[in-house]
Amino acid sequence: MLYHELVRVYQDLDSTTKRLEKTAILADFLGKVGDEEPELLSVVTLLCMGRIFPTWSEEELGIGAKLLMKAISMAVGVSPEDVENQMRETGDVGLAAEELYQKKSQVTLFSRPITIEKVYQNLMKMATISGNRAQFKKIDFLMELLSSASPTEAKYLTRTVLEELRVGVGEGTIRDAISQAFKIPQEVTERAHMLTNDMGLVAEVARMQGEEGLRKLTLKPGKPVKPMLAQLSPGIKTSVEEMGWAICETKYDGIRVQIHRHGEKIDVFTRRLENVSEALPEIADYVEKSLPHEDFIVEGEIIASRDGKPISFQYMLQRVRRKYDVEQMISKVPLTLYLFDVLYYKRPVLDEPLKKRRKILESIVKPYPGKLELSRQVKVTPEEIEMATDLFEASITGGHEGIMIKDPHAPYMPGIRGKKMLKLKAEPETLDLVVVGGTYGKGKRAHLIGSYLMALQDENGQLLTLAYAATGLDDQTLLELSEMVEPLIISKKGREVKIEPSVVLEIAFSEIVESPESETGYSLRFPVVKRIRSDRGLDEIDTLERIQSIFKNSQKS
Ligand code: AMP
Repeated sequence: MLYHELVRVYQDLDSTTKRLEKTAILADFLGKVGDEEPELLSVVTLLCMGRIFPTWSEEELGIGAKLLMKAISMAVGVSPEDVENQMRETGDVGLAAEELYQKKSQVTLFSRPITIEKVYQNLMKMATISGNRAQFKKIDFLMELLSSASPTEAKYLTRTVLEELRVGVGEGTIRDAISQAFKIPQEVTERAHMLTNDMGLVAEVARMQGEEGLRKLTLKPGKPVKPMLAQLSPGIKTSVEEMGWAICETKYDGIRVQIHRHGEKIDVFTRRLENVSEALPEIADYVEKSLPHEDFIVEGEIIASRDGKPISFQYMLQRVRRKYDVEQMISKVPLTLYLFDVLYYKRPVLDEPLKKRRKILESIVKPYPGKLELSRQVKVTPEEIEMATDLFEASITGGHEGIMIKDPHAPYMPGIRGKKMLKLKAEPETLDLVVVGGTYGKGKRAHLIGSYLMALQDENGQLLTLAYAATGLDDQTLLELSEMVEPLIISKKGREVKIEPSVVLEIAFSEIVESPESETGYSLRFPVVKRIRSDRGLDEIDTLERIQSIFKNSQKS
């Protein structure tokens, strides 16, 4: 099939901004390719999206703007500076190439029509060539195409080389076009794509084997899967009740990874399906030691820590983007991988309920303390909600983000943000408040104050009580806090005490809510003592104004 036909489609796509029209144009073309040259479907599908390789592929063309400009200058017989100037003027390599081609009325140009196969073959050759003089050979392959191209072909070809097609076709549009062209229900195409992340393959199977074939497509170690996403929990109790019972886990604040073992190879993918194995070599090492030598796909979160406390996830971002000095980074900050799911073990297991997948995960992981562990979890029934609040408190004081609440009966749903996996996070903002009262614990903790009544100040320095905060603190800090507070007790009534305002605590919480019966008019959801602020005095605690402003901002988002 001639490249010219694909270029006509690009032009049609360019002429409309309406998604439905774009879908119809693509569906028509994919149908035609399917009828005439079905073996080209996979390639054409990728090219329509402006891609040469699937997103997760490690392969790249290795042709930057500079090299491309040089090739254009050779093809049209002008200087590289002319190409650069033209590009500056138009702001786009495709438009620059098109104009230069139009100005040049050489008869030798576009003497031979190019085919889609030829374009694809040459692009592949450019990607795979390496070693001596690779750059020159890449230019040769590119020149072979450019010297036969028409002005419009040059426009789209050059954009394709830089993977910047700009015809406004996203994954959703092409997926719908495949459904329309081959009469497949949308959800079937969508699932096939979520599982394989290979739109070319989806188009080919849709054409050759129809709906039944697509339904049989499944995940394969080595090819990343779109991760299942989380919604916000409306509250622990409601969420647990809706699920019947729930699996609650610490929510780690790092980067989510999917780890694939296929044969001897271990690949680490991010949630955006980028392969970051090389940037994180120690992870493959831990996985090699802790998991069986079988094909599998497991999922987890990697966090970086210093002195046993997690450090900002920004650091993890630096690590995954790092190409050089990786060794040096490894020794500086240790990483821990917390695994929380398994999608494949010898066979696909994603359709098994979470409770069974977790059992499989537990049976195959031999924890490597501090390096590779299972996510901390508790099973919570509606009668034992405090197990989840305890985990929330422990997570916050441990420096983590909050908790996940997961439906134990749910299968793994790639790419879906549903109600089967929920998150409850602490606000990134914390409050410094003063202790004005407390309640002693029960049982083993009867000698310790278990929750503290916290107050803020208004604009006149008057203290107003806001909320009782639970102590997610470890025993040592809890004891230290009790020793600080006990001499300040003014009065005692049952388990309740009044305390002279002096000790300042940093309080984390999940949300500020309006509460007419509270002295401030507000209250906190899931307030937890994060740490003792011995460095702060009574006059430095947070104000009513700050609460009002955080509340207003949260209403906006
Ligand atoms: P968010 O990024 O705020 O939508 O929260 C969901 C993210 O929490 C997931 O994509 C994971 O990266 C992360 N996460 C941390 N710990 C867990 C866990 N135990 N289970 C599932 N996801 C987790």
